[in-house]
Amino acid sequence: MSMTTLGEPCVLLKLGEVVLKGRNRELFEMRLRANIKAALKDYSVDIRQRHGVIALFLPEGTAYEVAAAVAQRVSEVPGLVLIHLAWRVPKDPEVVTKAAIELVRDTDEVARKAPFAVRSRRRDKRFPLRSNELDRLVGGAINDTYGLPVSLKHPELTVHIEVDRDEVFLFTGGIPGQGGLPVGSSGRGLVLMSGGIDSPVAAYRMMRRGLRVDFLHFSGIPFTTSESIYKAYALVRNLDKFQGKSRLWVVPFGKAQQSIRASGQDRLAMIAQRRLMLKTAEEVAHRIHAEALVTGDSLGQVSSQTLTNITAQDNAVDLPILRPLIGLDKTEIIAEARRIGTLEISELPDEDCCTLLAPRSAETRAKIEDLKLIEKRLDAEDLASQLADSIRPYRLDADT
Ligand code: ATP
Ligand code: MG
Repeated sequence: MSMTTLGEPCVLLKLGEVVLKGRNRELFEMRLRANIKAALKDYSVDIRQRHGVIALFLPEGTAYEVAAAVAQRVSEVPGLVLIHLAWRVPKDPEVVTKAAIELVRDTDEVARKAPFAVRSRRRDKRFPLRSNELDRLVGGAINDTYGLPVSLKHPELTVHIEVDRDEVFLFTGGIPGQGGLPVGSSGRGLVLMSGGIDSPVAAYRMMRRGLRVDFLHFSGIPFTTSESIYKAYALVRNLDKFQGKSRLWVVPFGKAQQSIRASGQDRLAMIAQRRLMLKTAEEVAHRIHAEALVTGDSLGQVSSQTLTNITAQDNAVDLPILRPLIGLDKTEIIAEARRIGTLEISELPDEDCCTLLAPRSAETRAKIEDLKLIEKRLDAEDLASQLADSIRPYRLDADT
């Protein structure tokens, strides 16, 4: 598609909950613009703040495909609800009309003579025409040119016209954004990242609530292969599109698991191991200045996730454990994993460290005193801080 007669290509971003922020709004918007800038570092774009929207201006003559790629990329940045690939034209009703005719020319709806509507909004009240006058002017011209019927109730094609301070924006469709808040506006968290389906979705949910996250993976090394590390790495690499500059830390956990097993309490091993993971994670969190832990627990999904066992986990640490999936069904989690692109990776086979410790029957009502006895023998606090000393970082600077 040529864009010359249409004016300049641009991308319009509609903000989500950020607009509900009273006096802090400016801070949230600054964070959002910084995140957008980082996400679009490979493109040449000029970020302009307009009233209630952000406009990304692209250089003159930018190809349609490039503008579409920018729209796609920015749709991954949390904090935006809608992204429109738009054209920017001078504030002249005649120019706007011509651009609208050009904008819809090659669409399937025009070919089918499908019903259409024009919807105008004036953010600048000094524009010579009122919204409904502009609707009628442009709608009439499209109708005259292509013979499309107007339908205000059930249009198949809607031409949106937004009259702004310095220019007019025109667009037809939009792609949904992630919603939520800009990453970083809620602080930093540490995600306990297995190679499974749930924890990547939990990470996504918390990023979308403004948490910048680091990732911590426990590997069964030296008693398992490195497969689970590769999987965790691939998952983090995939999730990095939502926040950038992600870090994965890996704990070699095999020997600690062996000690837990040696303590002889088969039915409690799983939950004792989970507490040791959390204690280690808490140590790591302090070192990287994270203020919360995040897990993919969902109530009742497996034996470690009964209410009693979740209570036993909370009891192991002082930091809050955020569990964004606690009330979701597995089918809902799977659907979200598919949508965000992590499902395929999670479904690859691996030897998770936990498979080493799967007892024939696991305790669903673990008693905290029993767990504390095991931990005393293990010297769990000391072990957790040794484990935290042994972590290895895997940095992801998107293109490395
Ligand atoms: P997932 O699909 O995230 O693995 P799950 O349904 O398999 O979850 P569990 O294995 O009981 O459930 O794990 C519950 C949570 O504990 C996980 O969501 C994750 O946050 C954490 N976890 C489990 N195993 C590991 C691991 N090897 N490394 C880091 N975190 C882990
Ligand atoms: Mg798992």
